[in-house]
Amino acid sequence: MGQRRKALAAGLTVAALTLSACGSGGGGGGAAKVADKPTFEAGTTMARISAAGKIKVGTKFDQPGFGLKGLDGKLAGFDVEVAKIIAGAMGVKADSIEWVESPSKVREERIEKGEVDLVAATYTINDKRKQRITFAGPYYVAGQQLMVKSDNSKVTGPADLKANADQKVCSVTGSTPAEQIKPYLASDAQLVLFDVYDKCAAALRTGQVQVVTTDNVILLGFVSKSDKTFKLVGEQFTKEPYGIGVKKGDVKFCEFINKTLKDNTAAYTKAWADTAGKVEGAATATLPEAAPCS
Ligand code: GLU
Repeated sequence: MGQRRKALAAGLTVAALTLSACGSGGGGGGAAKVADKPTFEAGTTMARISAAGKIKVGTKFDQPGFGLKGLDGKLAGFDVEVAKIIAGAMGVKADSIEWVESPSKVREERIEKGEVDLVAATYTINDKRKQRITFAGPYYVAGQQLMVKSDNSKVTGPADLKANADQKVCSVTGSTPAEQIKPYLASDAQLVLFDVYDKCAAALRTGQVQVVTTDNVILLGFVSKSDKTFKLVGEQFTKEPYGIGVKKGDVKFCEFINKTLKDNTAAYTKAWADTAGKVEGAATATLPEAAPCS
């Protein structure tokens, strides 16, 4: 075989390998197993969902790496893959999941009203929210950080905000970062709130705000889509343990979710690697020890 033919043959082999790798990856998503006719104690949420063969999941639609709705209408992200693992353990296929957009402010309400069976949406476990809902998890721990335009040299961390009241800070209504940033601001007037984070990213791009604050991993998703026009600054200054929200007091469902994630760490690791873990600067994810369900 001549040199050119050899090179061509090698190229084809690589292409074939790449194609088969894609084929086995289930459309690039995490390899969530779908249990075949699993059985559950009568009267439990798992029994109801499993019998119905479908589930309603609240998630974000605008957060790259966690829950992002594509132009084809499909949802992609780590929260989406985690929900598929949980649904699969009840015998529910990915295409039988009804995704319900759940911005930060409406998550508790969606659960309380029964509009969703669970929420997987970069949802920090905290005592205030625990008064209204029950959290499984944590399944990941993020931390609050700041994102600015790459040419911003005024803001290098939260400690610079008070002295630079002209630097407007954007976050989302009903989120923990919107509250936790307040002590660092000159006044509440420095804070701009939208319902979803992609509006903050758009406002940063157009110069209506100078800073966006939320969890590091959400910001990293926006940086990765910004063609280097955004950057993260400063250290993480909070801990944001992500939980799966379910109806208040549904301890059996909560314990089932914790067990499912623990039993599926390979799918969990793959889910991360396929989604948020692809973003530059994202640390690898290891499933944290679950907290007791209450
Ligand atoms: N993890 C934080 C929260 O639950 C910020 C991210 C979000 O708003 O979804 O409030």
